[in-house]
Amino acid sequence: MAIISINPATGETLLTVDPLTTEQTIAAIDRADGAYRDWKMTSLDGRKSFLLKFAQRLRSRSEELAHLITREMGKRISESRYEIEYCAKISEFYANGAQKFLADEPVPVDDADAFIQYAPLGVIMGVMPWNFPFYQVVRFATPNIMAGNTVLVKHASNVPQCARMIESLFHECDLPDGVYANLFIPSELVEVAVSDPRVQGVSLTGSERAGASVAAMAGQNLKRSVLELGGNDPFIVLDDVDVDEIADLAIKGRIVNAGQSCVASKRFIVVKAVAQQFIDAFKKRMSQLTLGDPTDEATTLGPLSTEAAAVNLLEQVQSSIDAGATIVLGGDRPDRKGAYFNPTILTGVTPDMPTFDQELFGPVATVYVVDNEAEAIELANHSTYGLGGSVFCKDIDRARRAARQIESGMVFINQPTRSQAELPFGGVKKSGYGRELSRLGILEFVNKKLIHHRK
Ligand code: NAP
Repeated sequence: MAIISINPATGETLLTVDPLTTEQTIAAIDRADGAYRDWKMTSLDGRKSFLLKFAQRLRSRSEELAHLITREMGKRISESRYEIEYCAKISEFYANGAQKFLADEPVPVDDADAFIQYAPLGVIMGVMPWNFPFYQVVRFATPNIMAGNTVLVKHASNVPQCARMIESLFHECDLPDGVYANLFIPSELVEVAVSDPRVQGVSLTGSERAGASVAAMAGQNLKRSVLELGGNDPFIVLDDVDVDEIADLAIKGRIVNAGQSCVASKRFIVVKAVAQQFIDAFKKRMSQLTLGDPTDEATTLGPLSTEAAAVNLLEQVQSSIDAGATIVLGGDRPDRKGAYFNPTILTGVTPDMPTFDQELFGPVATVYVVDNEAEAIELANHSTYGLGGSVFCKDIDRARRAARQIESGMVFINQPTRSQAELPFGGVKKSGYGRELSRLGILEFVNKKLIHHRK
């Protein structure tokens, strides 16, 4: 893919970047490895000061950065502002928490003093997607930087301005050269980094296809990997709910980031006692969304990230319709310039249809009507994905029992799946493995080294 920034709301080309060569990529690895020698010896307080400065910098330039995100990938401006603030919080979370997260951990044994040291590993490669162009990178980079690793980031090819900006923000905070580096490389050159003996691990957030490819490279080279891949999150509505309240949350869950979130609610599984009421309330709210310019505060649904994404989504929706699914709302694109897609609700999607087990990355909701709770859980688990999920029910004990049976990395009760610095984030099945955020996130790329002294 060419590294090119195009405003998806207007189609205007903003920037084209020449990719690095193999030699330039190797030179960046040299610098990251050189920087690691000093960085691993830098005290936690020393590392912390850079990340606190980074958080400050994000906040002081928030408006400019938010507009950059919106221009480059089409996110609504209020969501872009939220993303920048959230990145500042993640940076502070790891800056302030690392002392506790990485403290030596005693191992109780009778005949020895033994403990685990959480030591850095070296250079870690990150391969990141465009949908949260600051958050994804910050979520990967800040725990690694605090742990004493140095990081190389290959960002998605459609967000080079965000990629460049993140690197320059770190430089503005005087982070030593080589601790964080942006690599403008095509995906074919990721292997150069993963196979380099100085690179100790790779974390990829993205599609199943990219995940499988990078995991294969990691396996071939005996490197650690973390994969944060797609999701097809269930949003289970049981009979004991206030349907209007749930319909408001359903909109929030589905329309976040114009529907382009791995943990957006995608499959609405509703017990039949409240199904028609839910479909009516949900349809009413979906049809009231205001499509428009993502920099306009009045817009409630912006464009998708690229024209190709909108074309692909239309093909997926059309294939469901061709196979017999019913359109409750939308199902097409509006007659306007930009990568827009109309809010869409489908019913009657069955396991034999191609889209049943595919992620629909946009404002398209699929509603399934089931007889009862047991059927809802069975359908929720009938997916090759297992990232997040939600259960809605006033009886919290019942909701918890249902949540325990869902095969996913995260389940939220009475709220759509969300991300917060303190909460572990990640999936099972084809949604990947490993965790980001929380203490678990900073422990992914560290050497859990045993130090043992016999008494
Ligand atoms: P993508 O095509 O897989 O791209 C993600 C990153 O991987 C990009 O930097 C891309 O580079 C790179 N890439 C693609 N193919 C590669 C390969 N064969 N080898 C090495 N690198 C490769 O994903 P996307 O469509 O941009 O992102 C959306 C997907 O990410 C969705 O499935 C979404 O659910 C998932 N996602 C998951 C999480 C999570 O935390 N679980 C979070 C956000 C998004 P190029 O841009 O140069 O192709």
